Amino acid sequence: MQTVPFWTEDFPRPTTLPHHSLPTQVDVAIIGGGYTGLNAARVLAQNNATVAVLERHTMGWGASSRNGGMATVGLKAPTQEIFRRYGEKLGRAFWQASLEAIDLIEHLVQTENLDCDFQRTGHVELAYKPAHFAHMQSTVAWYKKALNHQSSHVVSAAELHQEIGSKAYHGGLVDTASAGLHPAKYVFGLAQVAARYGACLCEQVDVQKLEKLPTGYRLTTNQGVLTAKEVFVATNGYTDRLVPTLKPHVFPVGSYIVVTEPLPADWQRQLSPKGRMFYDSKNFLNYFRLTPDGRMLFGGRNNLSTNLDLHDSARRLTQRMVEVYPELAGVPVTHSWTGQLGITFDLMPHVGRLNGIYYSVGYGGHGVAVATYLGTEIGLMLAGKKQTTPFAEIPQQTMFFYRNQPWFLPFAAWYYRFMDWAF
Ligand SMILES: Cc1cc2nc3c(=O)[nH]c(=O)nc-3n(C[C@H](O)[C@H](O)[C@H](O)COP(=O)(O)OP(=O)(O)OC[C@H]3O[C@@H](n4cnc5c(N)ncnc54)[C@H](O)[C@@H]3O)c2cc1C
Repeated sequence: MQTVPFWTEDFPRPTTLPHHSLPTQVDVAIIGGGYTGLNAARVLAQNNATVAVLERHTMGWGASSRNGGMATVGLKAPTQEIFRRYGEKLGRAFWQASLEAIDLIEHLVQTENLDCDFQRTGHVELAYKPAHFAHMQSTVAWYKKALNHQSSHVVSAAELHQEIGSKAYHGGLVDTASAGLHPAKYVFGLAQVAARYGACLCEQVDVQKLEKLPTGYRLTTNQGVLTAKEVFVATNGYTDRLVPTLKPHVFPVGSYIVVTEPLPADWQRQLSPKGRMFYDSKNFLNYFRLTPDGRMLFGGRNNLSTNLDLHDSARRLTQRMVEVYPELAGVPVTHSWTGQLGITFDLMPHVGRLNGIYYSVGYGGHGVAVATYLGTEIGLMLAGKKQTTPFAEIPQQTMFFYRNQPWFLPFAAWYYRFMDWAF
């Protein structure tokens, strides 16, 4: 078993992707070369701004090449809770944004010829307990009545075999608007597009210091100094203290994945007859799907730590995968890896400006679509094509006890484990 992401082994950084050296001056410097940063770079370069994407490792190195590749409707916070918190107008805007985010990926795939195995497979949220299925029934009724959202429906336990070859669940909520893709193909494709429009892609550039000048900013990196009129921080789960006032708003949480070796075609049809994306209804949820080459990808976490042992995590994930699919017992696991999500205290994405510096963070497990959308929104704002976005209108939350180290995560993990056991 290899302890590296399967996706970049399957599709490594293309040799045709240019390596640019650090410019000395740009209109916009973007820190972080994932879906957020690259989508902003694409829009800015299209609008004739000079733009440099500064990435500490290689383009897409962060969560954008390590994720499950599931572009699912909605946000991390439940939609009804979002309506309660922020009211109907903003609630509708956030819901609509989550749908438009998937449409945007599809649009990019078509117009920019992004070959990333994008498919509107739909997803199924699987009821871990009978009470969770009852909640799904009322949720779907609300989606139809309040949102006129027609692409979701529930499937009872008796009919669930049409969606999944597992007896582990008590029904499910299907949404056919969701999609699956190959994360590494997608992020390298975005990098190619941004470069084609003229963005500089600067890899192995670690931004170490950010200073405000009378006009613009000075960025000190391990490869020299760059000045920029505007700066956009797109570091999400890898946000450090570069912008000290941003750090308390977002904290890193580890997510872990294993994949098996490719499965025979008849097994694939049996395990996932419609090729859906799956996740269950627990707080410590598992998410899983077939990869485009027919492996079972199975993800989740045992606690919120970012540095679990990858052999130990593979053992636990495999055990859970076999509980869901007993026929996978003994099938070799070929890869085990991890990456960092950016989580906010209210489970909402947050965008805005701090001391003039733009940022966008906190997508939870919805970043494939939402990072694409918000990177594009910030790009449009920086290009002067848009004034604001609804995500900038909600208050930023932090907690007095968090400044640098997320020491509270083990306690949060106990709480969520208790909630999963009790409810
Ligand atoms: C294991 C896993 C599974 C996931 N599964 C899903 C899923 O199925 N569906 C879904 O919607 N979402 C999923 N997500 C979340 C999704 O991948 C992220 O929300 C999304 O990729 C975030 O993109 P980003 O560009 O904002 O950040 P990232 O892709 O994380 O990029 C941030 C980059 O910033 C760079 N950086 C940080 N600091 C500096 C610095 N000082 N100088 C230079 N560079 C710096 C880092 O090196 C990193 O590459 C998953 C995440 C993980 C980790």
